[in-house]
Amino acid sequence: MKNKRNIKKQNNTYRAVYEPAVKNINKILDILDKEYPEAASTSLKHKNAFQLLIATILSAQSTDKLVNKVTPSLFKKYKIPEDFAGADLIELQEDIKSTGFYRNKAKSIINCSKDIASKFGGITPDNIEDLTTLHGVGRKTANVVLANIFGKQAIIVDTHVKRISNRLGLTTNSDPVKIEFDLMKIVPEDSWSIYSHRIIALGRTICLAKKPKCPVCRLLKYCSYGQENA
Ligand code: SF4
Repeated sequence: MKNKRNIKKQNNTYRAVYEPAVKNINKILDILDKEYPEAASTSLKHKNAFQLLIATILSAQSTDKLVNKVTPSLFKKYKIPEDFAGADLIELQEDIKSTGFYRNKAKSIINCSKDIASKFGGITPDNIEDLTTLHGVGRKTANVVLANIFGKQAIIVDTHVKRISNRLGLTTNSDPVKIEFDLMKIVPEDSWSIYSHRIIALGRTICLAKKPKCPVCRLLKYCSYGQENA
């Protein structure tokens, strides 16, 4: 017990990975499969790659629910990258205001759309290298599009995946890109996307940010934080 306490840091990151979690990653995946069979894709509403890219930019520091309230009318008003590229900044800010951080998001959306229109002929790229050249698009946003639209395996490090991967003890990092690369080494490649979707489902229901429900969590046996705190 003392040993476990020694490796724990206050912000849910650890100085050492938790071997029971690493060694039992396939069992963890099996449990997640059984618990969250329906969690196989994003809950952001979209009809194509470009819409999902915009919805994902809007979802930063927000919730999918809030974004889903805004996007149906937004995508009726702005249909293709060229429409967003030519949008009036103030008007677009108003259109997306309820998602929060709307000034930066509006700027990112306009510049990202300009990039797609000018560099990629209006077609949203289907690879991480090109996607991450777009204004306001980091690896998380790119991976959401790759996993959900292009059927590629991708680890999506959002707030839930970051928090829970740390609590489990699968990573010792707090930087999302480092976490992504840590997880790519531990999670089998054919489960990268599904790991992300199901951990997000766990984070919304059981492994809550403030009060994780460890005693009822099916991953308790393999979880560093749960073993220490439940
Ligand atoms: S045991 Fe607790 S901390 Fe670990 S994954 Fe489950 S709810 Fe989260």
